Formats: sequence, structure tokens, C-alpha cells
Amino acid sequence: MPTIHPFFSVNEEKKPREERVYHNNAKCKVGRGIPVWDRQQGTNNYELCPVCAGLVGD
Ligand SMILES: [Zn+2]
Repeated sequence: MPTIHPFFSVNEEKKPREERVYHNNAKCKVGRGIPVWDRQQGTNNYELCPVCAGLVGD
């Protein structure tokens, strides 16, 4: 599964900064749970989602 353009949820802002993440893998269940209308392009300098990180090279 190819990586996709990084995106994050606008709701990440409601979390503590250290818990904010972005997603870059189409198979990520967490990322797929984010509605399209809630997605923002880019990383916003957040950490890579641990689920996405585990899917790299999958
Ligand atoms: Zn993810």
C-alpha cells in the first residue's frame, strides 16, 4: 500500500501537543477514521502516527 500525502485532523489541536499526530498511510485505521471534511493537508509539525509508522514498507 503506497503512502499518501500526509494529513491530520483539525481535532488534533484539542490534544496535548505531544499527542498530536499526522497520518501518511492509507491503511491506517486511525487515519481512516478521520472524515474527509476534517482532514488538513500536511504534517503541521506533528509526530508521525505510530500506526502509520508501523505500516511503512508493509
Ligand atoms: Zn495513522
